[in-house]
Amino acid sequence: MKLHEYQAKEMLAKYGVPVNEGHVAYTPDEAVEIARRIGRPVMIKAQVMMGGRGKAGGVKYSKDADAARKNAEDILGKLLQNEQNPKGEVVKRVLVADAADIKKEYYLGATVDRASRLIIVMGSAEGGVAIEDVAKTNPDAIIKIYVDPRMGLLDYQARELAFGMGLGEHMRDLGKIARGLVQTLVDHDASLVEINPLAITGDGKLVALDAKMAIDDNALYKQKWAEEMRDPAEEEDSERQAREAGISFVKLDGNIGCMVNGAGLAMATMDTIKEYGGTPANFLDIGGGAREDKVEAALRIILSDPNVKAVMFNIFGGITRGDVVAKGIVKVLDAMKPDVPMVVRLVGTNAEEGRKILEEANLPAAATLDEAAQMAVKLANERK
Ligand code: GDP
Ligand code: MG
Repeated sequence: MKLHEYQAKEMLAKYGVPVNEGHVAYTPDEAVEIARRIGRPVMIKAQVMMGGRGKAGGVKYSKDADAARKNAEDILGKLLQNEQNPKGEVVKRVLVADAADIKKEYYLGATVDRASRLIIVMGSAEGGVAIEDVAKTNPDAIIKIYVDPRMGLLDYQARELAFGMGLGEHMRDLGKIARGLVQTLVDHDASLVEINPLAITGDGKLVALDAKMAIDDNALYKQKWAEEMRDPAEEEDSERQAREAGISFVKLDGNIGCMVNGAGLAMATMDTIKEYGGTPANFLDIGGGAREDKVEAALRIILSDPNVKAVMFNIFGGITRGDVVAKGIVKVLDAMKPDVPMVVRLVGTNAEEGRKILEEANLPAAATLDEAAQMAVKLANERK
């Protein structure tokens, strides 16, 4: 789950990272009021999750309240697009932030490195631009420090970072900011916390002017505060419904809907569909068992995608009995009467009885995963 800039800045500020003052506005009037309160030139900044807002026209300097109004009118309601995000995002709120007098822009970010099981802190004097581009064109301009999450950033590491970024003179301040960054990541189970730009202002101060933060979805159960920060507009409708129903779901671009119990089995299902020339429309794990309510919720989610031309069930009956699962599927299909063809693969406890029930209900039952995938690909192709 990603946070908006203003939310990430609030977090960082609590950890001692200096940020420029700013408040959120939903209307031009609110933006003007905030600009007046700040009483200095402000930046009007689109609060959308996509990066590169500046280049897309979503970040504008406003020398006074009148300019703030004009820029807020311009940005609110605008569809922001760029190459990374061609679909774009409509701006519903802006951050009105005290405009800093920038002398130089730096990059500072922290992320989790699975390979070393450590946190990587990355710093660069090439700030303000996408760090991915710097990594490609000038990798030596990025300094990387590996930090043990149990120790936090150590003093010698902070020094190394500061000198590596050409901020030796600001060692103390940078150390404080980098420690705050690392602790923000650790305490919130974030997979990424990024400040870009971290700016040196005209009066020689370091200040975070833009921030990004992403929370590991697998940790959301213990990061209860995140629920309040969630912006439903940023999620696919189907992904929201799935989350609410307790189903793991990721929408993809193919045309074969997959309903599977177990994440590993769901992956294998997608691979097998690909193997036979098809493309999965989603990853979906209804979890252990295959309760009727979950099957129904999952099917609704799958069928709400107009690209779906066939649905493949792949259910492994372990503790749950195959006949119970089959009855559940038949019941749901009877009630929903979907006009998309289905194929079911059912194995495990009482699979034989289960398949009989499916066949009586005119649902094609496949004996193996390969057979099911081939059938699903064929059904989907017939309806293209
Ligand atoms: P992004 O494009 O989505 O990364 O949005 P940023 O907040 O990073 O803004 C993009 C660029 O706008 C920055 O790299 C700066 O050059 C500029 N900018 C952002 N905030 C300020 C500010 O307070 N003062 C000035 N002068 N420029 C700013
Ligand atoms: Mg930025």
